[in-house]
Amino acid sequence: MADCLFCKIVAGEVPAEVVHVTERTVAFRDLNPQAPTHVLVVPREHHANAAELAAGDPQASAELVTTAAAVATAEGHDDYRLVFNTGADAGQTVFHTHLHLLAGRSMTWPPG
Ligand code: 5GP
Ligand code: ZN
Repeated sequence: MADCLFCKIVAGEVPAEVVHVTERTVAFRDLNPQAPTHVLVVPREHHANAAELAAGDPQASAELVTTAAAVATAEGHDDYRLVFNTGADAGQTVFHTHLHLLAGRSMTWPPG
């Protein structure tokens, strides 16, 4: 999709520190990390949010989670948080589905 930052990262048009790739996903480090490990896992195809991805491509939706788990394991984390922000009020700023993987520090609940 034109003018989508994460489509451009998937296409290699915007640089990112890619840590894992699969058939349907790309995982790269967040530019502004909120934990020692903060990785974004995105589908290669553009979908605006997690619900649209799950409805349109359930296999890619599942692969986001399995990719995030593989990255967590590779980086030595048994405990981690996975987050989909959906909509501006929930904190979504990039409207290409992305699963946040956060790990490497203790976390509180509920989030702010
Ligand atoms: P959201 O707020 O939409 O849930 O998450 C978007 C995330 O993308 C934020 O955590 C932000 O730091 C990250 N981000 C924004 N621009 C870039 C970029 O150009 N490169 C990378 N690697 N991450 C970015
Ligand atoms: Zn996109």
